[in-house]
Amino acid sequence: MRPFYNLLLLTVLITACENDKKNTINTMNTTNNPLMEESTLPYHAPDFGKIKNSDFKPAFLKGISEQKEAVEKIANLYNDPTFDNTVLALEKSGILLERVSNVFYGLSGAHTNDSIKAIQEEIAPKLSKLGDAIYLNDKLFNRIKIIYNKRDSLDLDSEAIKLIENYFEDFEIAGANLSAEKKETLKEYNTQLATLTTKFNQTLLEANNAGALLFTDKEALAGLSESQLKALENKEKNGWMIPLQNTTQQPLLQSLTNRETREKLFKSSWNRADGSKNDTKEIIIKIATLRAKKAGVLGFDNYAEWSLQKTMAKNAISVFDMFKGLIPAATKKAQLESEEIQKMINSKGGDFTLEPWDWNYYAEMVRKAKYDLDEDQIKPYFELKTVLEKGVFYAAEKLYGISFKSRSDIPVYHKDVMVYEVFEQNGDKLGLFYGDFFARSSKRGGAWMSNFVTQSKLYNKKPVIYNVCNFSKPAEGEAALLSFDDVSTMFHEFGHALHGFFADQQYPSLSGTAVARDFVEFPSQFNENWALYPDVLKNYAIHNKTKEQIPQALIDKIKKSGTFNQGYSLTENLAASNLDMQWHTIATDRNITDANAFEKEALHNTKLDVVHAVPPRYRSTYFSHVFGSGYAAGYYSYLWTEMLDHDTYNWFKNNGGLTRENGQRFRDMVLSRGNTLNLEKMYKDWRGSDPKIEPMLKARGLK
Ligand SMILES: [Zn+2]
Repeated sequence: MRPFYNLLLLTVLITACENDKKNTINTMNTTNNPLMEESTLPYHAPDFGKIKNSDFKPAFLKGISEQKEAVEKIANLYNDPTFDNTVLALEKSGILLERVSNVFYGLSGAHTNDSIKAIQEEIAPKLSKLGDAIYLNDKLFNRIKIIYNKRDSLDLDSEAIKLIENYFEDFEIAGANLSAEKKETLKEYNTQLATLTTKFNQTLLEANNAGALLFTDKEALAGLSESQLKALENKEKNGWMIPLQNTTQQPLLQSLTNRETREKLFKSSWNRADGSKNDTKEIIIKIATLRAKKAGVLGFDNYAEWSLQKTMAKNAISVFDMFKGLIPAATKKAQLESEEIQKMINSKGGDFTLEPWDWNYYAEMVRKAKYDLDEDQIKPYFELKTVLEKGVFYAAEKLYGISFKSRSDIPVYHKDVMVYEVFEQNGDKLGLFYGDFFARSSKRGGAWMSNFVTQSKLYNKKPVIYNVCNFSKPAEGEAALLSFDDVSTMFHEFGHALHGFFADQQYPSLSGTAVARDFVEFPSQFNENWALYPDVLKNYAIHNKTKEQIPQALIDKIKKSGTFNQGYSLTENLAASNLDMQWHTIATDRNITDANAFEKEALHNTKLDVVHAVPPRYRSTYFSHVFGSGYAAGYYSYLWTEMLDHDTYNWFKNNGGLTRENGQRFRDMVLSRGNTLNLEKMYKDWRGSDPKIEPMLKARGLK
């Protein structure tokens, strides 16, 4: 039994749509429904050639009722509890639900439609209720507890023991130890939270769409290239439409020369869900206070204390301590950067004070002046498929000995999706990889990885893994050229994929990326380092027209500019991470009336508002990681794992860099271990010491 919303590594959004669409999916197709049976394609890959929208709901309903039945059967067994009849039986339950969830949530993120949105809305509270029916089931928990208490005398291997502990802890955290009365309250809260989360996502989706800006005057868009304009063209409305991205800053702010346009775009982003008809302030207050109350019922002072129990950080204090260690250095560097930018504004004759909407535009000028480097020089060397095959795959081959073969015969859900088969050095099969790289309106923002099929020896299954990104799709016949940020994103997501491919677990619920949030971003962030590693870079950075290798002078410039703007990027990240933690450390009886005042105070008290032109990466009102999906009190994970990532890369650098031997060691001791070990110990064993923050500060140019 894997969690229903298999931790996608960025977010799992539960979106929804108009109620009148609900009735379009009432056919109960159970025969000829390809989701009901194991796929017969290689690696049990989903048969997208056969799966229809109308297949999901019946498969979900059957999956939910099957799991409910299986769980009740285990809970009501007359026989004494054993590993096999309880823990293993539980692990084996819900196989249909997992199969349909994996395909459904894959599509709902990467290629959604009205039917999928309607099903999502309908299924969310049902899954929440099922979760309660399992985790708050007294009889079931008592059986698990009996096994847990004598686990060391059962003659089981360490992975089986870890499985017992994992279930026991999950039940305990979910509230299995509570009184019957408290359990009822908890169930009520969980149902309310599931509905509120759906409402948040639904409102935010509309806010994002409504926040898109239409321009009919080309002058207002000065600075954009012809291909950028072409991508924004809206023939119906006779103009150009700029859609909103998830983050506060919008990518086009870097290019727009018209200051009024920049301000308009920025404010549209900043106010998308504040004061408009798609306001989320009331919803987030309700979610945060309800989460606090839930923590209270579970016996904790606040939500963060409850939710951090199984993480590496362990508690809110250690997270705030990490922030405290970073805030002064980050804001100091951001302040220096803002002064440099102000000078640039003045030198260009600008008679105004730097505002957030000016930052990226003038920062780009500073970068050009300081490092003689601009994005347009680099992009021709980063052609998507070459970056993937000769960069991302190449680095993995050098480190881990694996190889890749294109598979155009596997059915995909959209024609842009590329499929590769992955092999071990000795030719053994390792799994299937899907890359879905281009943005489109049916895909939510951001980038993420997940599994269609999870590795497990229990079912003799090898992983089927996908990466989804949102790179701009080139016009027909043109090359797909990436920014360096995009290249890093590709390496990042593939780092998650490697964590999934090297999984070597008996039990699916411990397999691969099923680890704590503040560990799961470690393999992915670490993998980003290879993008600039000389041997790798030279192999993939080939000019798309001249076919020449990237010149050393350009590499040097890229490297030299590596710490550029890091004050900004760390401060905006800390501001968002801090907002998340502040919302989730409110007392259980706290009454909040004004979300904006709360946000302002949270930033002020932590001195994260000292550089006026650096806003948080996400405002509370559109922070979907924490109010729309599973990263509540968890956004700090990205900074936490960044520490692990640089610390690890430092080890590689000191031990010969990109070698098979180093890669194998990392694969054996970390990437293949899934959730079978204590994560702190796993890290320490592999690294030889606890993680240190200095390499991260150095990489960010803060030391
Ligand atoms: Zn990630």
